[in-house]
Amino acid sequence: MKVTIIGIGLIGGSIAISLKENGFADHIIGVDRSQENLDKAVRRRLIDEDLSFEKGVAAADVIIISTPVDTLIDLVPKVLDLIKPEQTVLDVGSTKAPILKAIENHPNRKSFVATHPMAGTEFSGPEAAIPNLFENKCTVICDGEGSSKSAVITVKELYESMNMSIIRMNSVDHDVHAAYVSHISHLSSFALALTVLEKEKNEKAIFQLASGGFSSTVRLAKSSAAMWTPIFSQNRDNVLDVLDEHINSLAKFRTLLIKKDFNKISELIEEANRIRKILK
Ligand code: NAP
Repeated sequence: MKVTIIGIGLIGGSIAISLKENGFADHIIGVDRSQENLDKAVRRRLIDEDLSFEKGVAAADVIIISTPVDTLIDLVPKVLDLIKPEQTVLDVGSTKAPILKAIENHPNRKSFVATHPMAGTEFSGPEAAIPNLFENKCTVICDGEGSSKSAVITVKELYESMNMSIIRMNSVDHDVHAAYVSHISHLSSFALALTVLEKEKNEKAIFQLASGGFSSTVRLAKSSAAMWTPIFSQNRDNVLDVLDEHINSLAKFRTLLIKKDFNKISELIEEANRIRKILK
């Protein structure tokens, strides 16, 4: 199978490694707006060659679009304009309703499958691509009834070759759930990093004390603005709803601290510990 990956960064590059290793792809083409990233991807052997947008789209059986979510609104229709009926196109963006809305009336809508592989790290670019990133994780396929059966089968086979399980969901529900399980954690990590950077001007002290809770809680704050700003923009309403609930939870702790009600704080912590049963 010939696969073209548009956007050869963390996710695109990690998919390239997996598909080459497991034999799903025998030839991988990279397309990117950054020639520097393409050169790095060739040097790291993530891709076999880099081509222009038009040539890259024409040359592949499967086209994976792995660029920030704001760029998908423009790129996915452009790819769909160029493809033949036997080609399959998928995106891997972290929001799903806006892109599906953007292509709902495209004549080649059926060749497109909207997906979100639920795996990642806080790093970006082709140097961040790693093997086994997706191993035993899940991928969400959204509004799959709008895609042709054969396109969905190809995309399922692609993800299953990477040992991923598939969940099907409608795009509106996906964006609500993604706000809860992913987007709010990034927002609160960015906020926590800002709070501590503001309060603790002595960076050496942060570094020395950061081995435990701080460093794991604030890890996501290393994530790139280029990827996250468009996600917050596209999923603004859902993120705002979740953020309001989060602010209420923080305010609860604040009130109890002011009242010195440590029994109630202990109860709240035990209630929060229920997350252990869900995330083992
Ligand atoms: P990334 O590491 O920054 O890679 C994105 C690549 O796309 C970069 O090489 C970037 O080049 C290139 N690019 C940007 N705009 C482009 C355009 N208009 N045309 C062609 N190439 C373009 O980002 P990523 O973390 O892999 O994220 C890619 C997608 O995966 C996003 O939609 C994101 O929502 C989704 N996703 C991310 C994660 C995660 O944890 N990171 C998890 C699941 C899904 P420049 O360096 O020049 O910008």
